[in-house]
Order: sequence, then structure tokens, then C-alpha cells
Amino acid sequence: MARLREKWLLAVNTLLVVGVFVAAFICNYVIYAPKIPVSGQQIVRTDTPLRNYDVRYPAFHIGPIDESLRSYAWQLTDAFLKEPGDRNNPHAKLTVNYALLHDGQQTASVRFAVTEQPAGKSPVTSYKMMTFDLRSQKQLALSDLFKNQTDASRFIGMLLHDYFQHDSRQRFTPGELAELLQLRLGDVRSFTLGETSVTLSLDPHHLAQPEHMTTVSIKKSRLSPILKDEYARDDQNAAGVTAATSAYTITKMPRHEALIDPKRKMLALTFDDGPGAYTSQLLAALRKHHAHATFFMIGRQVPGYANVVRQAVADGNDVGDHTWDHPDLTRLSVKAMRSQLQRTQKAIEKATGGYIPSLFRPPYEALDTKVQKYIKSLNLETVLWNVDTNDWLDRDSNIIYNRIMSQAGDGRVILMHDIYATSVDAAARAIPQLEKRGYQLVTISQLQEYR
Ligand code: ZN
Repeated sequence: MARLREKWLLAVNTLLVVGVFVAAFICNYVIYAPKIPVSGQQIVRTDTPLRNYDVRYPAFHIGPIDESLRSYAWQLTDAFLKEPGDRNNPHAKLTVNYALLHDGQQTASVRFAVTEQPAGKSPVTSYKMMTFDLRSQKQLALSDLFKNQTDASRFIGMLLHDYFQHDSRQRFTPGELAELLQLRLGDVRSFTLGETSVTLSLDPHHLAQPEHMTTVSIKKSRLSPILKDEYARDDQNAAGVTAATSAYTITKMPRHEALIDPKRKMLALTFDDGPGAYTSQLLAALRKHHAHATFFMIGRQVPGYANVVRQAVADGNDVGDHTWDHPDLTRLSVKAMRSQLQRTQKAIEKATGGYIPSLFRPPYEALDTKVQKYIKSLNLETVLWNVDTNDWLDRDSNIIYNRIMSQAGDGRVILMHDIYATSVDAAARAIPQLEKRGYQLVTISQLQEYR
């Protein structure tokens, strides 16, 4: 009986081991399937004696993708040959060539150059971009890249506005800049995805260069809050790729200063000790009213709420360092202090794909000259407050709401904690009421710039 059981166990084990190997092999093949190199195709028609067309297109050896490239090339040829003056006319010519702008594991981008020369006229060249998801085997529209189209237009508009206001050598008028903030995805004429960047060709009127289509490359890591995960990753190129060129390259995060009127009242809501279970609810309330706030986060909570932290930054809020696990820094050695602050910085940088906090708030308001000196050496700026809602003490949203409203004032910094449902509830009620009273709800960086 015992031997039989042993044999049976052995058989089951063997099956399991073989099963695991087979599964691993299949997964490996699916993930790292060797790519067949792209090959060039050329249209040759038998129904026209004269070859006054030279039309080339690539094949990825992926059925549906090859079909859309092939049908695009044939459509161009058909349209050209349909013109009675061009068909069989040696003085007319159609040339279609292509360049691979990207050929990665996830996506590929192709640029067609179409040169048409009707008989007796000069040649005209136009370009067409096509981007494909090689895994889902589909052609991608710009909107397919983003989790949410409204967020994406707003984020890209802010990014462009910020870049052209502060970082580009070329100057634009306030009116042109303001137009960028109204950007919609439909204003982007074409796009390509590269190894590490997304390149957009903008409608000329947005950047006041009517004769040129303006191209802007944006690092994928800067768009990580809005890109779908599969398109946010870097995607290594295969050989033989011509990288897209662009007039401008954006590598910085947006500053979101664009919409503030310095003449109107403003105040800063600040939230400590998150991120937590109620933070995303608070972000939604801020978003709904185009309001912004500052979050002083505890590093060890960041990895568990990475999406929330990413959203906070994408929405234009400030995120600051509130140490790794909330100790009294005046009791720590310099080494321990460094670990408390730098681990938090790194966690926030990782969660957001590149945002590095520049603000710091000390737990328990505990500061001495040693701590202050050290904070400064890390290029962190210490931020305190002038209105304390004591929301950790009184877990009653009516009381907290009344404290916010009664102590609100131009230039004030209000302290709350987004780890209590009662505080988030009070803030969500106060946000529209403060706006009704004429306050702009700004981040600490914005407040510092204007007050
Ligand atoms: Zn705290």
C-alpha cells in the first residue's frame, strides 16, 4: 500500500514539474517571442503597362497590421491611377516611401512620405504617421494611449504651456500660451511613439508658426500619470530605425502656475500624514473644482498608494516629504535623518515616475538648528502653517469645516490630515465654499510665488 502511494506521489510530482516547465516555456515565448525583422514590400500591378509609380510599404509579419499598411499603399496607388491624366502618363509620378520611426516589443511607428507629381505640375510631398500596438495587433489613435482623455488633454496642455512659457528659447504671446491650455487631443495632427518619448505634431495655430507643423517630443516618464501602463514603459528599438526628430523636447514636469490670478485672494490647503484610504476621494474633490493642495507624505505609505501619489502630481498638486515613518527628527543622528528623508524622496520619485519633492514638513513641528541646517543641505524647504484645524483631535467634520471657514484668509496655510474621513469630508465641503468666497486654492509653491 505504502509503495503504491509513493509511486502515485512520484507521478503527481513529475507531472507538476513538467507542467511548470511547459507553462514557463509558453510564458517565455509569449513575452520574449523573437521578432521577425520588418521586410519591405513594393506594389507591382499587372493592369498598367507603365510603371510610373514607386510605392513601398513595410510588413511586420503580423496579419492585421500588415493588412492595414498594405491597404493604405494600394489605396494611394488606386487613387493616383484613377486620374485619367496620370494613368499611363510617363510625365506623372507617384512615389511612396516609408521610414520606421520605432520598432519595439510593444509598439511600432511608421512614417510614410507620399510624393505626388501630376503631369505638368511640380511634386508635392505629404507625410502620414501610423502607430501600431504589436501585441494587440491594432493601429493606435492618440486617445488609445491614455487612461482618460480629459485628464490627458489637460495634462498635455499644462505641460506645453509651462514649457513654452519658461523653457523654450522661442517667445510666444500670452494669447498663444493661453490657447495651449485649451488644447484638445484633436488638435494634435499626428503622433509617434518612440523608445522613450512620445512625439506630437501640433496644429500650427497653437504655436503661431503657420508654415510649419510644430513637433514636440515628451519623455514617456513625464507622461506616466496619464499614459496607460503598457505605453508608459520604455520600449527598446529593434535595429534599423530612424528616430523621429522634433523641434522641441520636454523633459520636465509641469508647474501648473498657469491659471492663477495674483490679484485675487489665495490660500493653501495642506494635508499631512498620507497617503491613505481617503486621499483619492480628496483628489477627486480638488479636481472637480480645479483646486490644488499640498500633501506632506509619509514615505513608508507611498508604495502602497503609488497610483494615488501619481494622480496627486498629475493633477498639479504639490507633494512634500514628511519623513519615512514620522519620528521626531531632533532626536535622531544625521545618518538616521538622512535615511528618513531620502527614502521618502526616492519612494515619491519612483511612484510618480520622476517627481522629486522640494518641500518638507517636520513631524510634530519638531525643529532645531541641527535639523534645519540638514534640511537646507538637502535643498528641501521647510513649510509650516498658520491655521491649525486640530482635525486629529476633533473627529467631527462640522467642527473642522467651521474652523476652516472661520480662519480662512488671503495667503494663509491651513493644516489638516488626509488620513481621517472626517477631515476629507470637511475639506470636500469647504473647497466649493472657499471658492465662492473668492479664494483660489493653490499649492505651497504657487503661494510662495505670489505671496
Ligand atoms: Zn505629521
